[in-house]
Amino acid sequence: MNPWIAKAVVLAASLVMVAIRAPHGRRSRAVKVVKDRKGPLEATLLAFAMLGFFVPLIWIATPLLAFAEYPLHVGPFVAGVACLVVGLWLFYRSHADLGTNWSVTLQVRENHRLVVTGVYRRVRHPMYAALFLYSIGQVLVLPNWIAGPSYLVTFGVLFLLRVRVEEQLMLEEFGADYAAYTARTKRLIPGFW
Ligand code: SAH
Repeated sequence: MNPWIAKAVVLAASLVMVAIRAPHGRRSRAVKVVKDRKGPLEATLLAFAMLGFFVPLIWIATPLLAFAEYPLHVGPFVAGVACLVVGLWLFYRSHADLGTNWSVTLQVRENHRLVVTGVYRRVRHPMYAALFLYSIGQVLVLPNWIAGPSYLVTFGVLFLLRVRVEEQLMLEEFGADYAAYTARTKRLIPGFW
């Protein structure tokens, strides 16, 4: 397959992701932050994940990563497009359900409400599940050893080092309600983990 097809798909998916987030970013910025746990480690990991998100765009726009390309095959491409589509749908749904309670980092906002409905009824971290699906989609669609896994690796590290801190923050904020929510839900995959 022609790698330009992969380039077009990855560019379109990145634009859709940015378009889904943009209105929520604007809306959340208008709501005051009352608790902020963004320490130096979280700030570094966040910057690292953002860099990982943009590496595929470097592959699309420049010849800098051409040395790491390999041939694109139909099977992984189709599976990757499916992951991207489901990932973007879940990203859209989790933003819609979380509303102004969303932050790009570890923050609690004024009138923060614990969301346990919609996709949050099924798992505690549907937005992170969406980002994993999306980043696995990129690995499959993108025939490049560096640009393909860049977001999966950088986001994966952010997730691993953030998830417990985030859950601790939610527990401090919502106490027994969050403990009960934790007892009846899994983190990423319903019924599994
Ligand atoms: N981990 C969640 C949310 C990601 S956005 C997910 O993957 O879907 C990160 C912010 O969302 C956190 O800083 C926290 O303040 C907030 N948050 C996480 N879970 C929440 C919940 N169930 N209800 C309300 N806010 C939540």
